[in-house]
Amino acid sequence: MIFTVPQAILRIESMEEKTMTDTAQQPVRETKTFAAKAFAAQSATSGLAPFSLQRRAPRPQDVQIEILYCGVCHSDLHQVHNEWQSVMPTVYPCVPGHEIVGRVVKAGSAVKKFKEGDIAAVGCMVDSCRKCASCLAGEEQYCENHLTLTYNGQDTILGGVTYGGYSDSIVVDEAYVLRVSNGLDPAGAAPLLCAGITTYSPLRHWNVRPGQKVGIVGLGGLGHMGLKFAKAFGARVVLFTTSPNKTADAVRLGADDVVISKNKSEMDKHAGTFDFILDAVSAEHDLNAYLELLKLDGTMTLVGAPEKPAPVSAFKLIMRRRRLAGSGIGGIRETQEMLDFCAERGITSDIELIKMQQINEAYERLLKGDVKYRFVIDIASLK
Ligand code: NAP
Ligand code: ZN
Ligand code: ZN
Repeated sequence: MIFTVPQAILRIESMEEKTMTDTAQQPVRETKTFAAKAFAAQSATSGLAPFSLQRRAPRPQDVQIEILYCGVCHSDLHQVHNEWQSVMPTVYPCVPGHEIVGRVVKAGSAVKKFKEGDIAAVGCMVDSCRKCASCLAGEEQYCENHLTLTYNGQDTILGGVTYGGYSDSIVVDEAYVLRVSNGLDPAGAAPLLCAGITTYSPLRHWNVRPGQKVGIVGLGGLGHMGLKFAKAFGARVVLFTTSPNKTADAVRLGADDVVISKNKSEMDKHAGTFDFILDAVSAEHDLNAYLELLKLDGTMTLVGAPEKPAPVSAFKLIMRRRRLAGSGIGGIRETQEMLDFCAERGITSDIELIKMQQINEAYERLLKGDVKYRFVIDIASLK
């Protein structure tokens, strides 16, 4: 079979030479495309600005979604600033966004789950190998061969890089598209696609339940969802924050106790008492101060992904056979389970709705921990 680079891709004016080379090196089928409006970063320091990209015309198994809302995850900011360059270097132009809710405007002939007009959602991944042990177990986020991330991933169909939800449309294989109940506010539901599943999944995996004492570290996008889920699962929940002005909100969101983590004597009161701690902090901080709070066989799971590695004291783990773990988003089946759970319980994210044009200011506020508790972009502002 002869592969060619689609003209549509060659026409993208602002595509940098590096991306063009990457594109040219990949096997790319001739695919029809259409233009979509978006916001992109051109470099780690450029900020985000208007950008035009090409989406593939839907194949039989694809749905085309008109994006209504897209949440702003701290991962978007890490990626735009190329803070994860040692693990997943950023390809520019970068169109972030993986908390996507929209309306189906086209469903391919083989699509079974969706029809035109349905509300649908897309999270952090748009494809995976579907054959490895992780994919077969429904844990596609841990695909051993090729996971296609929603943005800054390798686009196996068009070639080049994938573009995310800071855009007015997206085309995705229905196997990676989620159903959203009409009962959920679509803007408040958008952050469930990353902040929601990333906290739901580890709380379920480590079987958080009534009778347990659970800590959530950091009251941001992930943290406030973790707090809601840990409460919904029946645990006694303590929220750790560096921001004393978030105390009243933490209580309103369900915290049984709030600890200002900079206050050592407050921290000491909880030493050796936690069954489980979920750490959702985006920046450098002392993990040992939290390991100290776990009881015998307690687990602390990291979901926060700061730029720099953190030192861990072996003794903090040895002394009470404690465990330090990590967790990444969640599989498609579990994401749907989480969305259905939220629909049943009326759980959504607490959001600040912004226009696309306010995104650079929103990033500045996110860096200061100043968001209540997730920015969501109203994509109507792109039109
Ligand atoms: P966010 O909304 O910015 O929240 C992060 C919170 O961390 C802040 O609100 C703040 O809470 C706390 N914090 C910030 N700087 C701190 C510092 N220097 N020391 C201590 N605490 C600090 O971010 P997010 O969107 O929830 O994301 C959180 C992290 O999870 C990011 O690193 C993101 O990339 C990562 N993430 C991972 C996954 C995964 O699959 N594992 C998925 C999504 C996101 P207080 O003001 O309450 O202290
Ligand atoms: Zn995210
Ligand atoms: Zn796989």
